[in-house]
Amino acid sequence: MPFPKPYTKANITSGYLTAHRPNHTGIDMSKGKGTVIYPIWAGKVIGMNEGCREGETKCGGGYGNYVKIWHPNGLYSFYGHLESVSKLPANFEVDTNTPIGTEGNTGQSEGAHLHFEIQNAQGQPIDPMPYLKGAVGADDKPKATGLFAFMSLTPLQLITGVAIFAVVIFLLFNNSKKNNYG
Ligand SMILES: [Zn+2]
Repeated sequence: MPFPKPYTKANITSGYLTAHRPNHTGIDMSKGKGTVIYPIWAGKVIGMNEGCREGETKCGGGYGNYVKIWHPNGLYSFYGHLESVSKLPANFEVDTNTPIGTEGNTGQSEGAHLHFEIQNAQGQPIDPMPYLKGAVGADDKPKATGLFAFMSLTPLQLITGVAIFAVVIFLLFNNSKKNNYG
């Protein structure tokens, strides 16, 4: 189950740059300590911190154990306060099925949660919510386009489509027969 499938809107415990936390540059989510975290998109691991234990609030610059990933869309994603970090070498290529760590309570954190951040190409945090919304349902089938769009249809939609097609063909055929007799 790719990120953020273990997380739903209901699990969001803190938003991006809220009135209450104007310097909070990510979104906090909680599904329980130890929940496996997956990358939001495929990419390359470019930063990682491990070895922080709970209560060491300054460890990892306050983010505790973390993973940072570069994505081909030019953005970075950041996962903080992890309990554990997967043993992945630098520049390791991950996809949305690669476990990168587990939800935890390391660094400046009160209670297990994932601090999830999206950064632009300059490394500046931007609002992750639009991306998070886009990724919710990421383990559903990707939306097909063009010729293959039919692959994403439900059976009912497919049957309806075929039925309409059949009626159109029938009408055309019927019409051409009339013309022959006409
Ligand atoms: Zn946070």
